[in-house]
Amino acid sequence: MPPRRSSNRRLATIAGIEIQFHASWVIILVLIGLTLGEYFRTFNPGWSSFTVGAAATVTTILFFVSVVLHELGHSLVARAYGLPVHVITLFVFGGVSELSREPDDARSEFRIAIAGPLVSIVLGGVFLGLGQLGSSHVPVFAVLNWLGWINLVLALFNLVPGFPLDGGRVLRAILWSSNKDFIKSTRWATQVGKGCAMIFILIGVWEFFQGEGLSGLWLAFIGWFLLTAAEQSWRQTEVRTALGNYTVRDLETPFFSRVTPDISLEEFINELSASHRYRASLVMDLDDHLLGIITAADLNQIPRAQWATTTVGAVMVPRAAMATVLPTEELSSALRKMAEHNVGQLPILADGGVRGVIRRDRIIELLQSQINPGGA
Ligand SMILES: [Zn+2]
Repeated sequence: MPPRRSSNRRLATIAGIEIQFHASWVIILVLIGLTLGEYFRTFNPGWSSFTVGAAATVTTILFFVSVVLHELGHSLVARAYGLPVHVITLFVFGGVSELSREPDDARSEFRIAIAGPLVSIVLGGVFLGLGQLGSSHVPVFAVLNWLGWINLVLALFNLVPGFPLDGGRVLRAILWSSNKDFIKSTRWATQVGKGCAMIFILIGVWEFFQGEGLSGLWLAFIGWFLLTAAEQSWRQTEVRTALGNYTVRDLETPFFSRVTPDISLEEFINELSASHRYRASLVMDLDDHLLGIITAADLNQIPRAQWATTTVGAVMVPRAAMATVLPTEELSSALRKMAEHNVGQLPILADGGVRGVIRRDRIIELLQSQINPGGA
């Protein structure tokens, strides 16, 4: 799974799907751009520096567009199966379409998973086909050829049969349709994913000691990344399964701390420490409208000496930037939002007002009792 921090920047919205990129993606784009410049310069000594730069830039942008199209392939098929995708995040090795939940059956899982690589294969074919129309030393055709190959590589890499890559999802769908057991299929696909990752690492290390240097290290790094991703996705599946039958309503509490925006930070922290129970307060006006949330940690940005003169309203995380949940939302979704926003509780909204809060520690308690029933 990709990192899901607030370091994700919003880029554009296509067909109602928000395209975000992770900060690491910028570094990758620059690296690709530089590598491409070097490549074009080496194979086309006759090109001017301007031509090399322009070709590298255009290629990098079109590569980026190719990755977005791959993800849109997944997203649009998912939507056709009633699984809306709201966000596509681009990160180090490509992108991830965040499905709102797991597919309901093996057939839709298979089609959603295969759609991305199919888009890449078609793109690869079209680019390569166009690239054959002229000499590969003419900039336009050099760019088309490179894009053709890289899209095929993208398709192949994603088809490695290790979960959570597309190929791993395809494998899970095939296992799932034969054994009808989603969890068992996920576990097997994850094991295969770890196996593939180990093979990548071993080949990478072996190549490195054979003197292949950087390319070996790259392979080992990709392997390590896959290994981590496989473990994370498995844990996520476990959590989703354990919490699957519960919604926010099951664990909500009507008790929470609330303050008005006009009180000082000094008053806020006194109130919070007097209660002992709360580490955050909802900021609400006298008409019960939710304005924001403030935690004790938010006070760190303000020097202690200014606490008496700074208001809660000036420091709180405003309504527009905070996460909320609905009573009918799945607990795993609430947990994910807490992680994304780095908070321990979320207000529950219903009928235009706040009806209570849901706290992370209560979800964790439930999770522990589900995964380890009767255990300590
Ligand atoms: Zn994909």
